[in-house]
Amino acid sequence: MTPAPPNTGFLARRDLDKLRQQLVTQGYRCIGPQLRDGAIVYDELQSVAELPVGIHIRQAPGSYQASETDSPRAFAWANGPQSLKPLLFAPRETLWQVEHGADGTLRFMPAPPQAQPTAVIGVRSCDLAALALQDRHFLAPDCDDPYYRARRDALLLVAVNCTHPADTCFCASTGDGPVADSGYDLLLDELDDGFLVRAGSPAGEQLFASLPVSTATDAQHEAAACAARAAAEQQQRRLPPGNLYPRMLERHDHPRWQDVAGRCLACGNCTSVCPSCFCYREQEHTTLAGDVSGHQREWDSCFSAGHSYIHNLTIHADTRSRYRQWLLHKLGSWHEQYGRSGCVGCGRCIAWCPTGIDLTAEITALLEEDS
Ligand code: SF4
Ligand code: SF4
Repeated sequence: MTPAPPNTGFLARRDLDKLRQQLVTQGYRCIGPQLRDGAIVYDELQSVAELPVGIHIRQAPGSYQASETDSPRAFAWANGPQSLKPLLFAPRETLWQVEHGADGTLRFMPAPPQAQPTAVIGVRSCDLAALALQDRHFLAPDCDDPYYRARRDALLLVAVNCTHPADTCFCASTGDGPVADSGYDLLLDELDDGFLVRAGSPAGEQLFASLPVSTATDAQHEAAACAARAAAEQQQRRLPPGNLYPRMLERHDHPRWQDVAGRCLACGNCTSVCPSCFCYREQEHTTLAGDVSGHQREWDSCFSAGHSYIHNLTIHADTRSRYRQWLLHKLGSWHEQYGRSGCVGCGRCIAWCPTGIDLTAEITALLEEDS
C-alpha cells in the first residue's frame, strides 16, 4: 500500500461547503461546475448543493450526454464545454473607447482591466496544463497582456483529480492528466465519503489550515491512487508522441486533408472549446448615433475567413487549408514556439464538433498513410 503523502488531509463530504464559505469569507467570487441545459458549465456557486452531484457524462465524437445516477459524488465526470479560458481570456472585451465630438475632435478613453478575486472549484489537470500554456502566451516577458494579467493574478484554483474520464479524453497520452501535479492552490481527490485535500501554494496552505480536515489514512490514499491509475488506463484515444511537425510538413499535400475538409463545416466550435487556442481579432463597434466607438477584442478562429486575410488576400481560402493550419499549428509548430504541442488531451474538440471529427483519428491516419 502506498503511504499517504505528508500534508494531505481528509475533508468529510458534509464539510465541503465550508471550503466554499472560506473562499467567500476571503473575498473570492466562488465559481463551480453546475448542470445547465444538459451540459456542465462553470457558474457562480451559492452552495455546494448546486454541484452536479450524481451526474455522469457520456462523450463521443459529436456527442455529449448527461445522465443522473445515485452516486454521492459531485465530480464523477470529465469536463464540460468550458475550460478556464473564458474566465481569463474574455470572449469579447473593450480595450478602449473613442468619443467623437461635434467639432470633429476625438477623445480616447481607456477601458482598464477589471478583475474580481475569483476562486474556481473543480478544475481538471488538462485545464491546468492549458492554463500554463495560455500563461506563456499572454504573460510572455515582452508582451504581458494587462487584461489577462489582472484576472490571472486574482485567480485561485481548487483542482479535482479526474476519476471518470470521457471516451474522448486522452490526457494520459499528452502527459497532462488525469492527475494534477502542479498549477493548483488546493487539490482534491474525491472519495465516496469525502475528499483528500492537499495544498499547492501559500494561498492553498492558508485555505487548508482553515478547513476542518482530519489526517488522511493510507487506505484513503490508496483508494485515490487506485482511481487515478484506473482513469489513466481507461483512456483509449492517444496522440502520437513527440514533435509531429516534420512528419506533418512532409504530408502537406496529403489527400487526407481534403478528406477531412469534406466533413468539416469550418464552424470553429473546436477552437472555441479548445482551452489552449488563443487567436483573437480586434475591431471597432460604433453606436448607432456614431458618436462613440469601442475597440473590441474577441475570439477568432483559424477556421474563419478573416483569420488569414491580409493585403486583399485570404491565405487559407478553403476548409482544407484551414483544418491543416489548425493541426499544423496545434500539434506541430507549437513545439517550436512553446516546446510542446498545444494539445492537452481534453477531447472537447472531438465531443463538440458537430460532425464528430476526431483529431486523434485524423493525425493517426495522416501519419500512418504514405506521404
Ligand atoms: S486540440 Fe482538442 S483535445 Fe487538444 S486541447 Fe484543444 S480541445 Fe482539447
Ligand atoms: S473540425 Fe468540427 S468543430 Fe472544427 S471547424 Fe470543422 S466541423 Fe467545426
